[in-house]
Amino acid sequence: MEFVEVFDSPGKGRGLRATKELWAGDILFAEAPLASVVLDSLVSNVCHGCFRRQEKLQRCGQCRFAQYCDRTCQRASWEEHKLECAAIKSYGKAPNENIRLAAHIIWRVDKEGMVVSDTQMTTLDELENHICDMNEDDLKDFKVDIHNFLDFWPRGSKQHTVDSISHILGVINCNGFMVSDQRGLQAVGVGLFPNLCLVNHDCWPNCTVILNNGNQSAVDTMYHSQKRIELRALGKISPGEEVTVSYVDYLNLSEDRKRLLKQQYYFDCTCEHCTNKTKDDLKMAGAEVEGEKVPEEKVKEITEYSRKMLEKMEKARLDANYNEVVKICRECVEKQKDVLADTHIYQLRMWCTLSEVLSYLQFFDEASTYARKMVEGYLKLYHPNNAQLGMATMRAGVTHWQAGLIEVGHGMICKAYAILMITHGPMHPITKDLEAMRIQTEMELRMFKQNEYVYHSMREAALQNQPMKMMSEPAANESIKNLFRRK
Ligand SMILES: [Zn+2]
Ligand SMILES: [Zn+2]
Ligand SMILES: [Zn+2]
Repeated sequence: MEFVEVFDSPGKGRGLRATKELWAGDILFAEAPLASVVLDSLVSNVCHGCFRRQEKLQRCGQCRFAQYCDRTCQRASWEEHKLECAAIKSYGKAPNENIRLAAHIIWRVDKEGMVVSDTQMTTLDELENHICDMNEDDLKDFKVDIHNFLDFWPRGSKQHTVDSISHILGVINCNGFMVSDQRGLQAVGVGLFPNLCLVNHDCWPNCTVILNNGNQSAVDTMYHSQKRIELRALGKISPGEEVTVSYVDYLNLSEDRKRLLKQQYYFDCTCEHCTNKTKDDLKMAGAEVEGEKVPEEKVKEITEYSRKMLEKMEKARLDANYNEVVKICRECVEKQKDVLADTHIYQLRMWCTLSEVLSYLQFFDEASTYARKMVEGYLKLYHPNNAQLGMATMRAGVTHWQAGLIEVGHGMICKAYAILMITHGPMHPITKDLEAMRIQTEMELRMFKQNEYVYHSMREAALQNQPMKMMSEPAANESIKNLFRRK
């Protein structure tokens, strides 16, 4: 590896540190998964080869489980799928995603050895499984997985001890990484990336990890080659400095982040931001009205009320009842107004949902108002090169464009482009989309300034073609926030 090396990170076990000076947007390494599988919930919506979402998929005639875009995807995946295919056929059904992933990993390692590429910095044996840290409930589920794995594993494949199977399942449990669709908007699969497992967490990290499927073409669909992650620097990193990524969304209070990290990854976060509770005050702050602070009691009351409304809203959102979502949010933001600060995370969540859902329902004017508030709040909380900030700014920019607020929209799209050039890189499909939008809005802005009448007629035509329609359903956007393992 050219830019990183394994070292003993004090209090964290193994970690990676930089061996050279790095700058924002530099790729520290890229890595293909050892194996990856489609999530249980999406087995009928996503191609098991290229992980694209498709309306119509063709089933594998043998197992009737795996589904593909076409013959090309099926052929390209056969090497990976053939042992699974036979196993599913004789088992009678497909086991869950953890078991499928574990089976794929073991088949691959049995075939190619513990190290499958010359850039792999760790073997699976060396990774931690955290089985002894699991709580009773997790352990119960975990034992069911082991049991089902043993049932599923074909007699004809090489046999392994229960200990080594537990180890792999344990590694998957705490190191499985969400694999998104080709546009990076929705988590569709889970994979294991051994080098990425070595990168420790920090709530205010110096790197970000992004899935880049690159430009796929039929010739490019060799074994696993189409899916890869990139570890990208968010700012300057000095030689010897540990490289870190964040496993959780920064828009949680430090105690909530610590709890999530403990629950899912079994460690106590001692990062600077958690230790100092950095920005926690902003995330729970009350508003100032005409120079006067809103009384603490009132802020508390509305915070508590918002918490309940958020739960209600999430439920309606899961049911795809978007009119109900809008109703709940509108009611809530009315109460939050002039009581909570514009950085209060419960208010930001409401603004975020409102802007997404309203723009999905095509109420662009109102959506853009909330989108702008959201981005302004995010700017005060997130790292300036945070990928979530970039994506939110992009969505807000598109919403403004749709609302006819061309100047603000263009400004936001430019800002989003600058962030995504660092977090996603120039070759990522989203960055390319953004580039096209930047050119389009720039041209419109110029026309608008020259001749408003011509501009409006052109705009009508542009809106009808919907060149910038890129929003998935609002429910789908949510899932990508947590790239690391679900729960
Ligand atoms: Zn496909
Ligand atoms: Zn099959
Ligand atoms: Zn932390």
